[in-house]
Amino acid sequence: MTEIKTNSFTQARQVIAGGVNSPVRAWQAVGGDPLFVSQARGSKIYDVAGREYIDYVLSWGPMILGHAHPEVIDAICCTARRGTSFGAPTEAETQLAQLIGKAIPSMELLRMTSSGTEAAMTAIRLARGYTGRNMIIKFDGCYHGHADSLLVQAGSGVATLGIPGSPGVPECLAELTISLPYNNIDAVHDAVESYGSELAAIIVEPVAGNMGVVEPQNGFLAKLREITAKHGIVLIFDEVITGFRFNFGGYQDLIGIKPDLTCLGKIIGGGLPVGVLGGKKEIMETLAPSGKVYQAGTLSGNPLAVNAGLATLQLLQAKADSYADIDKQAKQLCIALEKLFLTKGIPACINRCHSMFTLFFQAGPVNDFPSAKKSDTNLFARFFQGMIKEGIWLAPSQFEANFISFAHTDADITFTISACAAALKHL
Ligand SMILES: *Cc1c(COP(=O)(O)O)cnc(C)c1O
Repeated sequence: MTEIKTNSFTQARQVIAGGVNSPVRAWQAVGGDPLFVSQARGSKIYDVAGREYIDYVLSWGPMILGHAHPEVIDAICCTARRGTSFGAPTEAETQLAQLIGKAIPSMELLRMTSSGTEAAMTAIRLARGYTGRNMIIKFDGCYHGHADSLLVQAGSGVATLGIPGSPGVPECLAELTISLPYNNIDAVHDAVESYGSELAAIIVEPVAGNMGVVEPQNGFLAKLREITAKHGIVLIFDEVITGFRFNFGGYQDLIGIKPDLTCLGKIIGGGLPVGVLGGKKEIMETLAPSGKVYQAGTLSGNPLAVNAGLATLQLLQAKADSYADIDKQAKQLCIALEKLFLTKGIPACINRCHSMFTLFFQAGPVNDFPSAKKSDTNLFARFFQGMIKEGIWLAPSQFEANFISFAHTDADITFTISACAAALKHL
């Protein structure tokens, strides 16, 4: 069994840089070779040796309906038979845009891309083009994809690998990005005071997921809205994870705050490569071809991703009242895990926002990147491996979120709790 997976990774490393096509998949933070996957269905994922795991990664968020949902797969297959890309508009794109615009009213006009990275990158370019200013503010531990300007003090794989800024990002570009502590509105006030008239945008994960889950506190987002409105700075909510994760809409719709621009991805592609940028009509109209800020994509809005997304959102719309069910499962799981850790005497702090959560190996509280980094990552790595042995696939980094899907059953939750008890015995 171990031979097969070692073999897969060894072979991959001979032809793929680092053996993976996205860094966190290499399991560098938890040690050992990553498992190679053969298939997944519902809440379960299977490695090439045929072992079954309950999946809490869900492709890093997108698979909220569970893997290989029959109606989504049907939509993909039916679409594929009519051709996979035309480089010309289709009516399905309009339908998807209408559905998103109805669910997230601040997205008056939108533009589809093939990844969240492109959506965030375009949001920054658009904010710069619209305001005629160059500087931006982001927050430590937030991740907005891998565009140059956004890789300063970033979360996700960048945090996992401990890279403060990436080599290859020119200093003159990085200098235009101010990275501030999350949840620290005083730091924002100070920066706006110093650079106000040069600031094009503030971009934020309204609930951070890429330093582990960290919720906004003390009216952080409302205050950001106030400051940006006052100084003519474009406020960008990066809802690539949070969009349609907690409700049929954005986190912004739950809290009643309208950003100027919103980035979406992950869930809205139903497991296919996708991103969406949208927002105020006046700003969005500065995008080419109606305006002069350029953005394009050969496969943007391609029929496969659009129809997978459309099927996913239609199913989610029909289930809009059931989001409470997955919240409840997540809550039940987190309370049980917390109890197990307490009994065992291992400091643990679980941050949970609805159906997404992170178990930090420390007493907490965790409310920003420096506090997240206080976690015992060695202990986390051992726990992760222990859970894998028990058939539970958690996010392979302390600085990532875990997710529950509509396919997770109560039996999955119960099984996971016993698995955790077993894993803790060996910790
Ligand atoms: C995943 C993610 C992105 C990047 O999306 P990709 O599709 O991986 O390019 C951007 N922002 C946030 C908040 C994300 O979680």
